[in-house]
Amino acid sequence: MDLDFTEDEIRRYSRHILLAEVGGTGQARLKAARVLIVGAGGLGSPLGLYLAAAGVGTIGIIDDDRVDVSNLQRQIAHTTERIGALKVESAAAAMRAINPDTRIEAHAMRIDANNALGLIGEYDLVCDGTDNFATRFLVADACVLARRTLVSAAVLRFDGQLSVFKPHAHDANPCYRCLYPEAPPPGLVPSCSEAGVLGAVTGVMGTLQATEALKEILGIGESLAGRLLIWDALSARMRTVRLKRDPDCALCGAHPRITDLSAHRAA
Ligand SMILES: [Zn+2]
Repeated sequence: MDLDFTEDEIRRYSRHILLAEVGGTGQARLKAARVLIVGAGGLGSPLGLYLAAAGVGTIGIIDDDRVDVSNLQRQIAHTTERIGALKVESAAAAMRAINPDTRIEAHAMRIDANNALGLIGEYDLVCDGTDNFATRFLVADACVLARRTLVSAAVLRFDGQLSVFKPHAHDANPCYRCLYPEAPPPGLVPSCSEAGVLGAVTGVMGTLQATEALKEILGIGESLAGRLLIWDALSARMRTVRLKRDPDCALCGAHPRITDLSAHRAA
């Protein structure tokens, strides 16, 4: 691993390098890492900003949407001036402004069954910050099939959830489908655009997601794999519950029934 840092890098990352758990070796690991962020919205904004600030070497970001005035209440990578711009270009500009050394790969497209495996295969770690179940299940399936660690966060109203899924790393680790076997029928669970969300709640959850992504890259602390973090902002309570691997899981079980992304193609 390349441990040669410039003077500027040593100054920039000095608060990281001071940490025994990070140090020069950890910082070099961050520099070598390739992270894909799915969705340049409320979660993707703080996620991208903190990963870029932390010195993650390459950040891919995929989204086909454009910045709208209704995004700005929570999607802090975007600005009033950039309304109408592609979200990935706007987020890339914000990340580059914080850290010009981070390579940003902006994918202005929708992730789908045709491109998901190829795209995810190019990265070490995937962070899901999407706002719909179709994409969430597609990304979860593709991560298991491509054996990539998935850091998954979700927000609604005043609540947030976060977990890490990496069944390829250990037999006891569940996947997203061990927790949620199937997407709920359309209309059953409202989206943020239907039910609302407190902007700062997405900021906290995106920042927690960035923290877990950095922990996974650095290999430090206790992974959230096998646990679900649940935060209720109104009561100011955060708790974690154990998640078990389902031996009959259609995706990661002993006899998987999902072996490719064809079901998503049909949908
Ligand atoms: Zn599973």
